[in-house]
Amino acid sequence: MKFFYWNKNFEIGIANLDAQHRRLVDLINGLAELITDGGKLPQVQTLIGQLMDYAANHFSDEEELLILSSLPQENKDQHKAAHKAFVDKTQTLFKRKDLLQAEVAEQVLEFLTTWLISHILGTDMKLAQSIKSEQPEQQKTETLIDISPVERLLIGALTETERRFRLISDQAPAMIWVSDASGNRGFINRAWTAFVGIDETTALNTPYWEHIHPEDQTNYKALIEELLANPRTADAEYRLHKYNNSYAWILEKILPRIDTNGAFMGLIASATDITAIKQAEALLDQSNKELEAEVARRTEQLEQLMLTDPLTGIGNRRMLTLRLEEETQRAHRTQRPLTAVFFDLDHFKRINDTYGHAAGDAVLIKVAEALKSCNRDYDLLGRFGGEEFVMVLLETNMDNAMKLAERARAAISKLQIQDLPEQITISAGMAELRPNETWELLLQRSDAALYRAKKAGRNCVQAD
Ligand code: GH3
Ligand code: MG
Ligand code: MG
Repeated sequence: MKFFYWNKNFEIGIANLDAQHRRLVDLINGLAELITDGGKLPQVQTLIGQLMDYAANHFSDEEELLILSSLPQENKDQHKAAHKAFVDKTQTLFKRKDLLQAEVAEQVLEFLTTWLISHILGTDMKLAQSIKSEQPEQQKTETLIDISPVERLLIGALTETERRFRLISDQAPAMIWVSDASGNRGFINRAWTAFVGIDETTALNTPYWEHIHPEDQTNYKALIEELLANPRTADAEYRLHKYNNSYAWILEKILPRIDTNGAFMGLIASATDITAIKQAEALLDQSNKELEAEVARRTEQLEQLMLTDPLTGIGNRRMLTLRLEEETQRAHRTQRPLTAVFFDLDHFKRINDTYGHAAGDAVLIKVAEALKSCNRDYDLLGRFGGEEFVMVLLETNMDNAMKLAERARAAISKLQIQDLPEQITISAGMAELRPNETWELLLQRSDAALYRAKKAGRNCVQAD
């Protein structure tokens, strides 16, 4: 984490002093990092030691220049006194045993940064101006950036706010980044770098979309572009590359940063890993789909069961009446023929009485099979009741139906049924659908024909 960012305004224009100032900034950043990382006291003290040594060298370089400068002696003395005050204060801090406590560490860092900024912008700037220019000292002071106590307080407050934000965001579990108004990310918190598994410098120096799943890049980039053009709050869900070389689903809340004058400054975003939620959602979705499929399967089975005769496995009365309704309407609409055949086993009561109900059941099963094998695929066949079966012959007139029914009757009369020495016979009555006739009337007419077949001595087919 960078604690203190170098700024162009900090350059005084004397190359080696600028380089030394930057080195001081780096050392302070190193110290901030060590403290926020929870470094050990010896490490912190070592670093402060280095900082002090470096400051001492830097001060002696500056003081050599000070001697050559045209500044009044009074200014020179003040400058040297400031150096000495810094060294004294740092030494006192350095000896503190409670240096690692958050509040104390913050004070130390605050002192170091504020001192450095104000010293560079004030005293060092004056020195630089006097070295570089031949102009009389009095005129130069007006162009100098002289830091007033109020400004010093403001700089302190700014760095304080910035530092607090950094400290807080680095402790936060959410992944946070901050961009400027052109979308360049200037800050990425520790949760983010730890999650992606790269250091902050690398993170800030690679395009942000490189860490995003290829399939999500286009949408995410488009969203960021849109938010930069029309700042608003937005949510983004995408897959972010993880340190272990996998991708995790991220939910990111993106907010515009607006300054006190209402100007757009950039974006700030906070994201959390929602992989577990996504997985749970996917699982839920999957089991919902499976459940739906299961329900559909069962519903279909149930519907099938509701239309099937459990003994013979062919359609039941319900199926017959439902389909008869449909098929008679279609026949009326298309003006195609349709014939219904009503079958009834002959003297079935006697079969039951002689051989038992189970034998009767076996006969019903065999008869159903035989009728089915005579039936064409598109015809309807069902058990209408006890030992009554109905065939609905589609696209079939009376003549053709007669041939089919006769074939069925003959097939039944030739049935060989185990443990049943008797011949089984069946009678049938048939009727062809009349214009505008209901299926109920059609069945009534075929039943009437059946009655006549029974009267005529059974084992025969009669047409209405
Ligand atoms: P007909 O030639 O005049 O039709 O005489 P039938 O004996 O076949 O007629 P009836 O209506 O008097 O008898 C039908 C018999 O069918 C009565 C009943 O015991 C039997 N039956 C009805 N449903 C079943 C069933 O599911 N299983 C068995 N085994 N018998 C059944
Ligand atoms: Mg009957
Ligand atoms: Mg009967």
